[in-house]
Amino acid sequence: MAKTGPKPNKNTKERKIPERRCTGCGGTFPKKDLIRVVRAPEAKENEAAEANTPMENVCRVSVDFTGKKAGRGAYMCKKEACLAKARKTGRLHSSLQCEITDAVYEELAKEIRLSEAENNNEDE
Ligand SMILES: [Zn+2]
Repeated sequence: MAKTGPKPNKNTKERKIPERRCTGCGGTFPKKDLIRVVRAPEAKENEAAEANTPMENVCRVSVDFTGKKAGRGAYMCKKEACLAKARKTGRLHSSLQCEITDAVYEELAKEIRLSEAENNNEDE
C-alpha cells in the first residue's frame, strides 16, 4: 500500500469559513448555521423618553436575521435544546451583559422552529 503525499483535506476550502461559539452548547460552528443575537450598541435616549423607561432598562437585544447589525453579538445553534440551555444557564445574558426578555427568547424560539420547518421541507 503506497501512501501518496500529504492527505488532502476536503474540508479545507480556500476561503475560511468564519466560526462562532454557540451560547447554548458551547460548540463552534460556521457562523451561517447560527442565529445571531445582538445587543444594540447604545440605547437611544429619545426612545427611552418616549417609552417612559429608565435608561438603565433600555438595553436592547434583538435577533439579528441579517448578521449585520452593529453591536455586541452572541451566537446560537438553530436548536431548541441550545436555546433552552442558554436560557437556563443565563449564558446569553452574561454574554451580552444585558437582560434578555422573554420576547427575545420567544423570537429565537420562533426562528428556530421556522428553520427546523424549512429543513423538513427542502423539496419545496
Ligand atoms: Zn449549540
